[in-house]
Amino acid sequence: MMDFAQLGWEAGTVGELDHRLLKAPHVKLRAATPGPSGDVVYSVDLRINEPNSVFLSSTEMHSFEHFLLWGFQKYMPKNFISVGLMGCQTGFYLILFNEGRMQAVHDVYEKILNDVLAASEVPYANIAQCGNYKNHSLELAQALARRVLEAKSNWRQVI
Ligand SMILES: [Zn+2]
Repeated sequence: MMDFAQLGWEAGTVGELDHRLLKAPHVKLRAATPGPSGDVVYSVDLRINEPNSVFLSSTEMHSFEHFLLWGFQKYMPKNFISVGLMGCQTGFYLILFNEGRMQAVHDVYEKILNDVLAASEVPYANIAQCGNYKNHSLELAQALARRVLEAKSNWRQVI
């Protein structure tokens, strides 16, 4: 059994939880999947909105996703595997290789959100790198980043 507390996570919040209890925005470890050689794949939920309350728009999600892809690749090149949208439009799935420390994830997330605020364009928002390149809004991504940053002291408060 992995020592989630040593990684900084509250052990009781790891795994699947009743979505009616979730607070947001939060950063939560969903799973840690070890391989036979000792490598570990970490699945992290970047929840933005409380479930079944307010939903992110397609444009908000899309531009924010581009920034997450860009930022985690930039700051964690050896660990970043992927980021994906939650189909319920309330957050994102982050997948990392061999990095599951809560503080490390928080620190990079915060850096990326600050980069969003300072950005002059959405990364990869062009016809060669995106499958729906007109569906972007820097302003919406910045408003989202600002809201998540303002809630930083609550990122650990999953339930
Ligand atoms: Zn795209």
